[in-house]
Order: sequence, then structure tokens, then C-alpha cells
Amino acid sequence: MKLETRNYIAGEWLDGESTVANINPSDLSDVIGHFAQASAAQLNDALAAARQAQPLWERTSLEKRQNALMGIGQEMMARADELGELLSREEGKPFAEGRGEVYRAGQFFTYYAAEVLRQIGDNADSVRDGVEVDVRREAVGVVAIVSPWNFPTATAAWKIAPALAFGNAVIWKPANLVPASAVALTDIISRHGLPAGTFNLVMGSGRSVGQQLIESPHIDAISFTGSGPVGRGIAVAAAGNFTRVQLEMGSKNALVVMDDADMDSAVACALNGAFGGTGQKCTASSRLVVHAAVHDEFVSRLVAGAKALKVGNALDRTTQMGPVVSAEQLAQNVASVAMAKANGGELACGGDVLTMPTEGYYMAPTVFVGTRNEWEVNQEELFAPMACVIKVDSYAEALATVNDTRFGLTAGIMTRDLARATHFRRNARTGCVMVNLPTAGTDYHVPFGGRGESSYGPREQGQYAKDFYTVVKTAYIKANEPV
Ligand code: NAP
Ligand code: MG
Repeated sequence: MKLETRNYIAGEWLDGESTVANINPSDLSDVIGHFAQASAAQLNDALAAARQAQPLWERTSLEKRQNALMGIGQEMMARADELGELLSREEGKPFAEGRGEVYRAGQFFTYYAAEVLRQIGDNADSVRDGVEVDVRREAVGVVAIVSPWNFPTATAAWKIAPALAFGNAVIWKPANLVPASAVALTDIISRHGLPAGTFNLVMGSGRSVGQQLIESPHIDAISFTGSGPVGRGIAVAAAGNFTRVQLEMGSKNALVVMDDADMDSAVACALNGAFGGTGQKCTASSRLVVHAAVHDEFVSRLVAGAKALKVGNALDRTTQMGPVVSAEQLAQNVASVAMAKANGGELACGGDVLTMPTEGYYMAPTVFVGTRNEWEVNQEELFAPMACVIKVDSYAEALATVNDTRFGLTAGIMTRDLARATHFRRNARTGCVMVNLPTAGTDYHVPFGGRGESSYGPREQGQYAKDFYTVVKTAYIKANEPV
């Protein structure tokens, strides 16, 4: 099938005012395509189309809406190999991760297909005689969705699926580094019976199309996943228009390894959390907080595991860690290595840019030891295949270290002690806690989000998403006396 490269506005595929080249980070000679950049006028057309279509979609019968979401989800799952390969090719995650992401994105649609039929309100007697109260949820209206490049399909799906399930129209601005997976998802959505204008794809840079979209007074809500500084700007713009806003941003997640941990499992979880997705996950384990009694054994096994990881072209089925996403990200990672050294960290492995048979943005899995939590390298999000080990002497010191951050998305603990696990689960100041699991890797039917500078606004995913994608209406009804 020919790869679509255009924007999707008011039910039509349209060229933009210019194009941007989409380059494979595993092989810079591979140009995936030239993708349309929407003009300001086209974004306005999308906004107008969405405003017009939204009431039609909200009034479309529940079964038709459910069928649309179910069809989208099932098609994604059925095509997970093909679309996963496209995602790996443009983003650089190994094929198994790309395939898994597309399949998971499909599951968001099938899950929210079921939620379409679970929209049930409340009923009460008024405090006044003869009056009843009906409380129900309605769609918010037109939702702007701005998504990042690291999980381009899953992040978009966990926003688009509930937005549509609850009767909203959508304008989606994906990250410009990953337009192919955006048009692939849009192509599927376009073939499942939504009224024209219900769903619109507008591609372009964050600074132009993104900024114009989030500043628009013609949207009712913004759901954003991306970096903290961009999120802050969106919150300010949204406040100016009283636009409802939900932000998922960066983090600095810690995995604690206690002296009673199962060492095989601790090493496996640390490797998965630190190097999965080439470390480019908001849930990555970038701080490894390790008890002194097991520190040396853990570090030597972690370093052996990191060195054994096969780095390579994302499309090579034997690759375990792909390249980083872009030249900019690679330069930033090199700077992060220099920062860790300048802070006083000891490089245990990696740290270098790698040369491969195909030219790309390759970096070795990197571990620093002897680091301190207050150092910049342990306070700033890196988004790199890089973990810093912090040695601690007690559980209390481990917990205090985990919580000594301005972020708070996920935290993990490896322990066989129920008292420590329970205390940690209740006292880690994060939105998600993992016991004997990697800090990354979450489900779709339960809420996801963080505290501190990691998140702002209501939770995403599961039934909690309804608090963002609906508004509550309270109706009072006084019946006449029957005649
Ligand atoms: P980013 O630079 O903030 O970009 C995110 C999205 O916002 C992109 O679509 C970007 O467009 C757009 N954007 C940029 N400037 C904008 C502006 N002024 N107005 C409106 N939109 C704008 O983040 P990223 O580099 O793509 O992603 C990495 C970050 O995402 C990391 O910090 C990571 O922690 C975070 N993240 C968080 C979660 C979570 O759930 N907490 C999940 C995944 C990732 P362009 O890129 O096309 O310019
Ligand atoms: Mg690309």
C-alpha cells in the first residue's frame, strides 16, 4: 500500500504549504517520505470542521461509536507487524517494541470501545418536593491532542480513543519527527465511519502549528505529552482561554535495589527500565538506588548486562537496543555523559557514540557509579540510554533519595520484604509505584500519571480518563401533576 504523507482535514487528505523529510535514525540514507506541513489557514479549517462535526458525532448512536472504535482497534492489532515495522523504521525502537506499541495502541481503542457503552449517569431526588435531579456526562467538545515522538502511536491512542469514545472531535498534532506512524493511524481512523471533521490530523512543528493550536480559543481541551518547558507554556496559554488542560511531562524515575532483593530479577528490571526504548521513556529508570550490601554485586552484573546488549539497526530482528531518535538527541546525550563526569561520576560502561554498518544515531548503554542524588545528572531528565547508580545504607535513605526530586511519575523497589514493599508503595511520592517490576511498563485499563512536575491536570487512561474528556451536567426536572 502506498504510504500517505498528507494532512487529514474535514474528511480529506490535503497537501500542506511545505514538506518535511522523515529520516530513519538507524540508517540516515533511508528517507521514509516527505510529509505535509499544515498552513495556518488549514489549521483554521480543521478547527471549523471539528466544531461542526462534534455534535453529529456526540449524537451518533452508542453502538455505531462503539463499532467505530472496535474496528479501529482490531485493524491496528491485525496490522501490528506492518505498522510496528514502520514505527521502528522512523523512531528507532527495535521491531519487537514497535510491534508491541502498535498492538497496545489497538488495545486502547478496543478498551474504550467498551467504555462507550458504560456511560451511565446518576439520579437523585431534589431537596425540593416534586423535583428530580439527573446527573450525566457530556462531551467536552473539540479536543487538541499534542503528542511526543518516543511513543508516537501509543500516546496518541490513549488520548484519541477516550476523546472519541466520549463524543469529542479531535485535532491531532503529532511530533514532526514521526509523521509516518501518525498518518498510518489516521488512515485507519478515516475508514471507520466517523462524520467528516470528527478527526483531523495537522502535521507541522510545535513552534508553528502546535503553538497556533494550543492558543486557539476554538478548542475546549488540550491533552499534551512531552517535555516540561513546552508543557508549562501550554498551561499558561490554556489558562488565558480557560481551556481545560492535561499535561504528562518528564520524570527522573528511581529503582531501589534492597539488600534482600532477588538479584537476577533486580538486574533484569534495571536493564529493562534503563535501556528499553533506548532510555527514551518518561518512565525510564535513570536513577538506580542500591543498598551498600549488594552494591558491588549488582553493579558488576548490571555492567555485564549492559555490555552484552546488542545495539544496532532497529529493523534487525536480533537488535536489543536501537539508535536514539535524532542528531539533536544524540548531541544532548553526549552532553549528559560529560555532565555526569563533570559532576564526579565514574563511568562504568558505555558513554560513547557507536559506528554501525548503517550510519545512524547509535550510543552504547551507559552506566555511571559513585553518583550523588543532588548532582545535576540525577536531577535533570536525560532521555538517554544512561543510568546513574546511587549507593545508600538503609531503606530510609533509599526512600528519601527516591523522593528528593521535583518530578514524580514512577518509582520501583526490588525487595522480598513485605513491610518495606508496603511502606514504599504508600510513601513514594509518585503517581505509579512498581514492586519487583521495572519502572517502565503500564497497563491501559487503569490510570496513568504522576506528581510534581511530571503531570498536571486529571489522570489519563482507564475510567479516570472520563474526568478529562467529559463535562458533568446537572439537570433539575419538575413534572406537572398527571391529568
Ligand atoms: P516536546 O519537545 O515537548 O514535544 C512534544 C510535542 O509538543 C511535539 O508534538 C512537539 O512538536 C510539540 N510542541 C513543541 N513545542 C510546542 C509549542 N510551543 N506549542 C505546542 N506544541 C509544541 O517533547 P518530545 O521531545 O517530543 O518528547 C520527549 C519528552 O516527552 C520527554 O520530556 C518525556 O519525558 C516526555 N514524555 C512524557 C510522557 C508522560 O506520560 N509523562 C510520555 C512520553 C514522553 P514538534 O516536536 O513537532 O516540534
Ligand atoms: Mg524520523
